[in-house]
Amino acid sequence: MTRINQLRKILKKQEVEALLVTHLTNVKYLTGFTGTAGALLVTQEDAIFVTDFRYTQQAKDQTSCVIRENTQNIYYEIRDLLKELRISSVAIEAEKVNVTTFRLMEKIFTSEIIESEGWVEELREIKDAQEIQAITRAVEIIEDTYEHILEFIQIGMTEQEVADEIERFAKSRGSSGMSFDTIVASGNRSALPHGVASNKRIEDGDVVTIDMGCYYQGYTSDMTRTFAIGSISDQMKEVYQIVLEAHQAVSAAARPGMTGFELDQVARDYIVQAGYGDKFGHGTGHGIGLDIHEGPTISRNNHEPLQEGMVITNEPGIYLEGIGGVRIEDDLVLEADGARSLNRTSKDLLII
Ligand code: ZN
Ligand code: ZN
Repeated sequence: MTRINQLRKILKKQEVEALLVTHLTNVKYLTGFTGTAGALLVTQEDAIFVTDFRYTQQAKDQTSCVIRENTQNIYYEIRDLLKELRISSVAIEAEKVNVTTFRLMEKIFTSEIIESEGWVEELREIKDAQEIQAITRAVEIIEDTYEHILEFIQIGMTEQEVADEIERFAKSRGSSGMSFDTIVASGNRSALPHGVASNKRIEDGDVVTIDMGCYYQGYTSDMTRTFAIGSISDQMKEVYQIVLEAHQAVSAAARPGMTGFELDQVARDYIVQAGYGDKFGHGTGHGIGLDIHEGPTISRNNHEPLQEGMVITNEPGIYLEGIGGVRIEDDLVLEADGARSLNRTSKDLLII
């Protein structure tokens, strides 16, 4: 119940009596429930999980909440529950609730509705030892997969064939699935930061960027490597070196206390000074955990200090339209005195 107790502190600080958690990833984080229907009401005294008959047994097995079976529309059940508990104001996860549901709650709840913003997400940013262990395993699986792919990839294969093999192999190693559409971007497609695998064939002389992540016990990894097939131009070799050094500078600099802005600036300054500032169009990184993209962001928008226990990506890149691109991405755990990379795979330029 420690996560729920941490949430209670936020409720106290925000001066609200209760939070209704409807976003299932947040429900899972707080309770351990992995089913696909239910909502959690947290007050200073209670943690009540409302779900229907399909999930009551699972909820009993997986959570330590009081289980309430709903026999009507779940929001009517919650309305009744709020009345019984005499809750005068309830916070809801407004940004995660669709308009129809929001209107229904507005209409039927007799408690005042407060729109909360990212309270559970804020807790999720700091990982405990068990979460770091799961992420570490997810990284190991994706690294084994990458090693396998370097053996597997052949001139003439399509990017999609490579992506399919990545998924197959990761699953064979215990992953429950990929956490996003695998990016296999070859040749001038490697200039697309989000170049999801296509039917383009891998050709001699291509630069290939593979960005992939897989789930293990609910937690994700996220890793990118760029390599060359047969040969690489002097220009792309130079770009590779700049991205690698920017990446290394970020890993060396990352520590609790600095802001996401400041850490982003480490990569950005380096790439700007090398003359490619306008070719690095995305943030340096993001948090990973139950979701592939979660807080904190390592970008110009984040002025909050990073904290010990956060797991973030380090993924600077340079993209030259019509020519090619390079991105290198590791996952970092922020520890008391710096950052520890979970990745072991070499980042030296590889030409296969
Ligand atoms: Zn990635
Ligand atoms: Zn990423």
